[in-house]
Amino acid sequence: MSDQTLANLPVPPAQAPQTSPRIRKYHQPWIPSLQGWSWIITIVWITIANIWKPFGLYGFVCMFTPIGIALSGRGKMHCARICPRGSFIKVFTRRISLHLPKPAFMKKTAFRWALWGLMMGSFITLIIYSIPRGVAFLGNTVLVFMEIATVLAFIFGILFSPRAWCTVCPMGFTTGNLRGLLDKKGKQ
Ligand code: SF4
Repeated sequence: MSDQTLANLPVPPAQAPQTSPRIRKYHQPWIPSLQGWSWIITIVWITIANIWKPFGLYGFVCMFTPIGIALSGRGKMHCARICPRGSFIKVFTRRISLHLPKPAFMKKTAFRWALWGLMMGSFITLIIYSIPRGVAFLGNTVLVFMEIATVLAFIFGILFSPRAWCTVCPMGFTTGNLRGLLDKKGKQ
């Protein structure tokens, strides 16, 4: 058969990847990105919570939303499309980021587990300490904890790349692990 004849043969349609219904169940559709403006939520929340401390409890929404979204089968949709902190660090560090190379240890799973354990352990201890001291105290604890995380994320953004914090962020790590677990469950 000549090259010309071969070129004129109809091309078979590409085969769609076969996904079992059990796996599809854990991959739900994503919403369009809100990260063009969701940084405003970070500024409004921190401002109001610094004036009225109980509003610091809104920080729990920031913590549990990504987990709920991951458990709904949408994986890291919160990180990719919603996260107000991710949006905040991107918007405010992209023009000043030094783009230094990230230290290799930041990408190591052991380091991410260690940071996750440190931050979650500190957070739970602080919450247990704060609960008996009232709503305003508890709100302020959550606020200060989230402010520290945001400042760290900001410093990472300036030093490395705007979203460098997301490499090690405990919430992003948690949702990534949940996605992995649900994927595994879907394949069983
Ligand atoms: S990794 Fe953390 S800071 Fe980054 S987008 Fe996800 S939840 Fe937000």
